[in-house]
Amino acid sequence: MSTLNQIEELEKQRARILKQILSIGLMLPGTYKEVYCKCGKPNCWCYEKQGHLFRRITWSENGRSRTKAIPEDDISWIKEITGNYREFQKKRRQIKELEGVLKDLLGKHAGAVIEKSRQLRDYLCQK
Ligand SMILES: [Zn+2]
Repeated sequence: MSTLNQIEELEKQRARILKQILSIGLMLPGTYKEVYCKCGKPNCWCYEKQGHLFRRITWSENGRSRTKAIPEDDISWIKEITGNYREFQKKRRQIKELEGVLKDLLGKHAGAVIEKSRQLRDYLCQK
């Protein structure tokens, strides 16, 4: 594939990923977790079982770890929008990678165009 075709292909790919990224309307950083905790009361049912179930989302903010309890009705919603965030970040990295490749291809293309231009005049040819 020629450099020009490669650049065009890359731009198509980039536009496609960008469109996917921009279609994400809701997202939330964090991880959904289910944890079992014993409350510590010796007469509670959990004393000899695995404990009470807690549904949480944890995330980090300004280097600090944060946790919030999730209402049961919101579990699938939270899973969905934290998934959206991961997808967003992944695609953002993909765009960055593509831009790196584009930069290299543009350098290659520039070299080829300059060389072609030099070839048009004898006095510009490097021998
Ligand atoms: Zn308990």
